[in-house]
Amino acid sequence: MSFTEQDLREQLVDVMLKMAARGLNKGTSGNCSVRCGEGMLITPSGVVPDALTPQSMVFVDASGAAAEGGLAPSSEWRMHKGLLDRRPDAQGVVHCHSHYATVLACAHRPIPSVHYMVAVSGGPTIEIAPYSMFGSAELAEAVIETLDGRFACLMANHGQIALAPNLGRALAIAEQVEEQAAVYWGTLAIGGPQLLTGEQMADIAAAFGRYGQPKRRPKDA
Ligand SMILES: [Zn+2]
Repeated sequence: MSFTEQDLREQLVDVMLKMAARGLNKGTSGNCSVRCGEGMLITPSGVVPDALTPQSMVFVDASGAAAEGGLAPSSEWRMHKGLLDRRPDAQGVVHCHSHYATVLACAHRPIPSVHYMVAVSGGPTIEIAPYSMFGSAELAEAVIETLDGRFACLMANHGQIALAPNLGRALAIAEQVEEQAAVYWGTLAIGGPQLLTGEQMADIAAAFGRYGQPKRRPKDA
């Protein structure tokens, strides 16, 4: 499905409102972006979700220049642009400081194979990108390297980030990362988790590849 630029602007507002409503974000801390032509649309810097409109989203072109006359883009625009440039499989990127993911990120504890839904991240664990200053090119590079083809990671002393073939899916992954962070945190409070094995996680990854509604064969149509 292809979306118009207006559709994409509306999707960004919708994701920011959902993140706030679902407790993934507080205040102005989260941001999200979506590929748009040769550039991207990204949430503006320092605007609370309730005040966002489709027109307040900022277009950043392929050279990294923001559209003139508009708001300044999120301070994390380099990280979003770097991800979209280097991950052609990604259309949308969601970043937030959700509570439990941030607790683990501040304790430098990656999420191990604690539950089968960890595999939603695209791997058997959810790793942590090393700390760099927010908004820096170094942080963008650290996140890209840590993701290593996966869909989500924690960011040391900062939060989490998720990407996907569409913005709604990126939000769903970020929500699941937060859920798994909460589950892992909870197990640490009662003696630690009993982890799934590498073989079990590989089976889960294979099953996720088959998950969903079966495609109709022509004779069923
Ligand atoms: Zn942040």
